[in-house]
Order: sequence, then structure tokens, then C-alpha cells
Amino acid sequence: MPVLKIRKYGDPILRQKAAQQTTFEAALQQQAEDMIETMREAKGIGLAANQVGMPNALCVVEVGLVIEGAEPRAFVNPVIAATAGETVSYEEGCLSIPDVNDDVERPNQIRVRFQDLEGVSHEEEFEGMLARVLQHEIDHLNGIFFVDRLGPLRRKLLSKKLKELAEQTQRELAEEKSKRKPS
Ligand SMILES: [Zn+2]
Repeated sequence: MPVLKIRKYGDPILRQKAAQQTTFEAALQQQAEDMIETMREAKGIGLAANQVGMPNALCVVEVGLVIEGAEPRAFVNPVIAATAGETVSYEEGCLSIPDVNDDVERPNQIRVRFQDLEGVSHEEEFEGMLARVLQHEIDHLNGIFFVDRLGPLRRKLLSKKLKELAEQTQRELAEEKSKRKPS
């Protein structure tokens, strides 16, 4: 199983809204497995498809980091159907934004509608850390970063760093593109 390249802030695919997944074939299972392997290699707790350059609405979560012994899970076409409970502030980071961590406020309980890798529909409630990770990943599938959810002051403080990261990403993308051209 290949470990996939993680796309960084500034890559346009991370601002794209994911496309609804309508087929549930072996390729989707394989993509989920590759994403789980990539997430583990990067020591992440969650990963969305656009973070590995794929446009479909799929994310994976390393549930075992929250519930000991639990298997990683894949969520297809996930949407937040409802939120409840208090709003909690907790530090988040992102594999697509290295070296940036900040407190993000999110509801502590959510109900998520999703499909599994076989296409079966589910609705399930999550709270605490799993609710947070799922909200972070579902945001990715809507083209939203956790830094978008920070207050104006925090965003201002991070703006230079984010701009530099975006410029670096764009340079790397341009380089990749020029390498692909036949010389
Ligand atoms: Zn992220």
C-alpha cells in the first residue's frame, strides 16, 4: 500500500468542496486503506481525501488514539446533521499546516450522517475528541481549514506564516508541473 503525498496549505485542492462519492467499489476501499497508512505514517489522528490530492468526500479517523484498541474508521459523504452540548476550546493542528497549532472552539457533541465503504447509510453521535476530529475533517471536505475558525487577532498573528507556507507550496507545485512536461 502506498503512502500518499500530503498536500499543504496553498494547494488549491484544499479549498475545493469534495465531490459526492457515488460508487462503492474496491478502489474506494483501497483509497481508504492508503489514507489510513498515510495518516499513520504522518502520526495524524484524521485525514481528508483532498489532503492527499483526491477530490471525493472521504475521510479517515484514527479512533484508536481516543478509544484504546479501536480500529481506524472511514466516513464517506459525511455531514454534520446536528450539534449539541457546550462549545469547547481545544488545541488543533493539521498535517497540511505544519508547525501551526491553535485553540479552536467547536461544539462538543455532533450527529454525523455518513456512508460506510459499502455505501450503507448511517447516523451516529460523537462527542469529545472524536467529535472534534470529525468536525476538522468534514471542514476539510468543505475546503475549510481550522485556522479559518480562529478569531481575527489569532488569524492576523498567523497571516505571515500562512502566506509564506502558501507561497512555498505554490513554488513546489510549479516545480512538479514543470518536471512533468516532456523536455
Ligand atoms: Zn487538517
